[in-house]
Amino acid sequence: MKFEEQVPLADRTSIGLGGRARYFYAADTLEGLKTALREAHKQSLRVHILGGGSNTVFSDNGFDGLVLQMALKGRRVLSTQENTVLIEVAAAENWDQLVEWTGQQGWHGLECLSGIPGQVGAAPIQNIGAYGQEAGERITAVECLDRQTLEILRFSSAECGFSYRQSRFKGSDRDRFVITAITLQLPTDGDVQIRYPELARNISMQAEYSRSADLRTRLALIRRTVLQIRATKSMVLDASDPHSRSCGSWFMNPVLEQSEWQRVRERLASQGIHDLPVYTSNERYKLPAAFLIEAAGFTKGQRLYGVGISPRHALALVNYNGSSAELLELQQTIQQGVFDFCGLQLDVEPNWIS
Ligand SMILES: Cc1cc2nc3c(=O)[nH]c(=O)nc-3n(C[C@H](O)[C@H](O)[C@H](O)COP(=O)(O)OP(=O)(O)OC[C@H]3O[C@@H](n4cnc5c(N)ncnc54)[C@H](O)[C@@H]3O)c2cc1C
Repeated sequence: MKFEEQVPLADRTSIGLGGRARYFYAADTLEGLKTALREAHKQSLRVHILGGGSNTVFSDNGFDGLVLQMALKGRRVLSTQENTVLIEVAAAENWDQLVEWTGQQGWHGLECLSGIPGQVGAAPIQNIGAYGQEAGERITAVECLDRQTLEILRFSSAECGFSYRQSRFKGSDRDRFVITAITLQLPTDGDVQIRYPELARNISMQAEYSRSADLRTRLALIRRTVLQIRATKSMVLDASDPHSRSCGSWFMNPVLEQSEWQRVRERLASQGIHDLPVYTSNERYKLPAAFLIEAAGFTKGQRLYGVGISPRHALALVNYNGSSAELLELQQTIQQGVFDFCGLQLDVEPNWIS
């Protein structure tokens, strides 16, 4: 097997940063994937699995190993029951195209996840979510290749350990498996639930939505509305929008136990902040990171060298022809600022690869 050498990585990521890969291979078959992993093992190379590169920042020095990009394609209907359908989708299918296609079929459950860039295989890793839906709610199984044994394994949804931007693939089993396919179960009738207040408000203002009882029409309207809202925040990839050269949200919303929340609340109150919008569920408190960043004194549009905070979303860090080193400095400055302000350490969502 021959790997490509010294391949530029920046163009393979949405944020457009990073040096070169010493070796690069795009795996479009399972056999190719296994052979590449065997070869890397033989040569004692480090391996990084790359999907669509929309949640990845490579170091300015690149990656001194093998970047293995997923290129496994295909989707099929496994079974159709009275009011659900079971589909299997290969890892390198485009997530947003999958959402569009399922909506066109009249299958729901993914419509609020319209516009999220990247591949299907990355969706379970951080249990992607937006506008009140999470991929993990619809994924019934994840098929993986064990990177050591090259065995194919299947995990049920319960075994995946999905929670807010988290799964076993990002936690205890980080870098242990290559996800090769996922199975999703989607309702084919019934009503569509819109849980996210901003989206519900926008939809309720559209007469066309309330007039139409047709599920396909409703799903298309939700998708269009989500894409419109996301575009106002530069949260869809758009070559003509410089603020979308990002990884989406940079920081995760902190989720706290009651006692931690109490401590942070007192600290915020001492700074004159009494109106933090907090989402409570199962005695856990989810705090809006964007609010904390702005309250700590950072502003939308603020720049540091060639990188900055998006003028349209305080959670997105954007590359304006800067470098990964600059981005890391900006990230750390914000983390320190928020920590000094309220004692919270903001966790980072994208994957730093060096
Ligand atoms: C403009 C913009 C908006 C965004 N909005 C959202 C949002 O609303 N909600 C949200 O959750 N995310 C969002 N994101 C983040 C990103 O789109 C998702 O995390 C997406 O799932 C990443 O997919 P990818 O294929 O690009 O992953 P990559 O960046 O290529 O990889 C991400 C991680 O997954 C691993 N990985 C990828 N594929 C596989 C595989 N097949 N097997 C094993 N490991 C794998 C990689 O090693 C890496 O650790 C946004 C990003 C951008 C740029």
